[in-house]
Amino acid sequence: MSQYFLLSLILIQWLFKLVIEGANLLNLQENPPELLAQDFPHSTYQQSQNYLKANTFLDILHSTFFCLLLCGLILLGAFNLLDEFARHFKYGEILTGLIFLGSLTAGYLILDLPFRIYRTFVIEEKYGFNRTNPQTFSIDFAKQIFLAAILGGSVLACILWIFEATGNLAGLYCWIFLAVFQVILIYFAPTWIMPLFNKFTPLAEGALKQAIESYAKQQHFTLQGIFTMDGSKRSTKSNAFFTGFGKHRRVVLFDTLIANHTVEELVAVFAHEIGHYKKKHIFKLFVLSLLNTGLMLFLLTWFIGNPAFLQAFGLHTPSIYASLLFFIILYAPVSTLLSIGMNMLSRRFEYEADTYAVLTYHQPGTMISALKKLALKNLSNLTPHPWKVAYSYSHPTVLQRIVAIQKIQ
Ligand SMILES: [Zn+2]
Repeated sequence: MSQYFLLSLILIQWLFKLVIEGANLLNLQENPPELLAQDFPHSTYQQSQNYLKANTFLDILHSTFFCLLLCGLILLGAFNLLDEFARHFKYGEILTGLIFLGSLTAGYLILDLPFRIYRTFVIEEKYGFNRTNPQTFSIDFAKQIFLAAILGGSVLACILWIFEATGNLAGLYCWIFLAVFQVILIYFAPTWIMPLFNKFTPLAEGALKQAIESYAKQQHFTLQGIFTMDGSKRSTKSNAFFTGFGKHRRVVLFDTLIANHTVEELVAVFAHEIGHYKKKHIFKLFVLSLLNTGLMLFLLTWFIGNPAFLQAFGLHTPSIYASLLFFIILYAPVSTLLSIGMNMLSRRFEYEADTYAVLTYHQPGTMISALKKLALKNLSNLTPHPWKVAYSYSHPTVLQRIVAIQKIQ
């Protein structure tokens, strides 16, 4: 593989993103869609557009910067220099790999930091979303680095070890290892990892808890726990989600969600989350992500056997860890295609969960008013371009959801 081919591949991906974001901006309309016109005052609508523009420009700046940086690193032979540095300690392949990939990750995190700071303290602040102070922000960042180092570092060490130790069947062993690791992570994340960042409190006694419990009982859904999360610690944006499985499964409602919605609207949101559970969406997405990992490892094994592409990155000494990194860079187009497919499926699941909520809670109007409030509060883009939706939307647009709900009755 030649260096020019590699550089064109990276640039084409960047252009692809640019075209999609551009189309998305051009798709902004003067007035909100008719269905939402009453709920979106003109000033709020204007604000949601400015918010989208600010975020899009930052995204484009971010991807342009990192695209140019990657091209620069390749042209300057920087990957080889770093590799020689990592090798000069004369540790084994695994530790050398950890130094090589660890320094690159650290470099990325440091360079990415100004973008994160700007997003939180300038954009989110300007549009009234930000509730984070520099202290919480720094502690979060430190915790994320700590987790990435512990979890990411050990997973990486295991993968490198498997490739060194098991030869031909390494891809298969890695797949089993990653599958088991993912199950453990999903199982323990709600109780071990998420509490590192947020406080989860069992929902207090009262009208809301009663309403949710009586709905859950009707649906023969055994509640393992319904929690509120102090989302307001960082942002005024609101959300709800279903997480974990078995004994650790729980429905989480942001405190900001509870503050802004009526009891009926919250039960409707809860019913939607139960819909995901009853329709086995979480399980299906998990199986698909396993298949995706399997495909990736299959291609990776084939890649590692053909070290010719290492030259395009300017690397002199072939190694498994470098192949791993370069493979991930080259895999990005495939990964984009797959994520378009996954998003399509995820949007279908959202419709299914909405349908479940409407058919079991029998309050389509409440569901719609909850969706409208969420869109308004979060300054959602009401008219994203279809390409943008296909590219990155895991949920249908508010408008699409409302139209679909109205058709259910
Ligand atoms: Zn959902």
